[in-house]
Amino acid sequence: MNIETLNHRLEAAKPSATYKIIDRVAERRGEGATIISLCAGEPDFDTPEHIRAAAINAINDGHTRYTQVAGLRALREAIARKYRCENGLAVEWNDTLVCSGGKQVIFNALAATLNEGDEVIIPAPYWVSYPEMVQLCGGESRVVACGAESGFKLTPQALAQSIGPNTRWLILNSPSNPTGAVYDQHELQGLAEVLLAHPQVLVLADDIYEHLIFDGRQFQTLAQVEPRLAARTLTMNGVSKAYAMTGWRIGFATGPRWLLEAMEKLQGQQTSGACSISQHAAIAALDGPKEFIAHSQKVFQRRRDFMVDLLNQIPGIRCQSPGGAFYAFADCTGLIGKRSQGGRELVDDEAVALALLEEANVAVVHGSAFGLAGYLRIAYALDDQSLRQACQAVGSFCENAR
Ligand code: PLP
Repeated sequence: MNIETLNHRLEAAKPSATYKIIDRVAERRGEGATIISLCAGEPDFDTPEHIRAAAINAINDGHTRYTQVAGLRALREAIARKYRCENGLAVEWNDTLVCSGGKQVIFNALAATLNEGDEVIIPAPYWVSYPEMVQLCGGESRVVACGAESGFKLTPQALAQSIGPNTRWLILNSPSNPTGAVYDQHELQGLAEVLLAHPQVLVLADDIYEHLIFDGRQFQTLAQVEPRLAARTLTMNGVSKAYAMTGWRIGFATGPRWLLEAMEKLQGQQTSGACSISQHAAIAALDGPKEFIAHSQKVFQRRRDFMVDLLNQIPGIRCQSPGGAFYAFADCTGLIGKRSQGGRELVDDEAVALALLEEANVAVVHGSAFGLAGYLRIAYALDDQSLRQACQAVGSFCENAR
């Protein structure tokens, strides 16, 4: 055996396509180029002051040791209150688990439950990490295409057709990364009816963008809409996007105790639990004032409006107005088959994204990275002036493509 032989599942995993672009952005910046990056998966705001203060106090008060593997009792109580008050779920502190980011919640859930041959239904476009995690955990992804005609959402018909004897999980993400699509109560009810007929299927509700929702929509999560599914739904969330705390690495979930216990067992051999200081900060976030959430909703909704408006004025680009998150998922098929001013053949969405980076100095991620070709994911987590400049640069790139 070669000394450099890796785990076969890891070897088969693809490096994240978003990191590939981000690395190229860093390279170009290193060469002195000024790049506007619309790739970021995080709010551009600072963590609110009272949350930062709670972390500093935690350090000064000596809360710097290991915590319980499943998380601090005080944080789990705050999480249970959050689920009761914001989501109408009957959750006690011991129905919760704290992990190092929402990402680890998902990974732990899959690693704790998947066996060879188990399938996970992933509606596409999807967050890039889902299929990779499924693969790393030994499962098979069953990707279900959900195009613009269904608002990039899974329909009950498509769900019914994709469930088979090996289906172990369905992953639902609303508001969605990369499309910003939001499932309403009626749509979730339709999916729930299909799921009720398949009692072997677990559901992962990835609610990480819950609070970034626009136009007065009421956020709904599956276990709330259909309480009969609560016993097999893992409702995942975290502080990353709602409180501009991506670097603090705190995610959490509620769900059936057998599953939470299995995830805790895994975590006990893996991280021993999330960072103690970040857990104290997360208590301050969940229990503290909520003005920040209202403010970021307002800012992102305004940016969405002007971005979608500007994008729809660009020849070759069409964009639906997303209901949440901070991503626009723009159709770029009007550019495919053309040649850029710099002489690049725009053969597909990836070629368009790369040409935009090299020639317009604007970084976006191609839709095929998220399982739907012909699109660009444009993250508008950036100040207004940069967003306007980026749209101008994309506009002149598109006008000059022949
Ligand atoms: N789920 C989705 C859809 C995401 O976009 C992200 C982050 O980009 C996560 C989960 C993970 O969030 P975190 O691990 O930062 O809590």
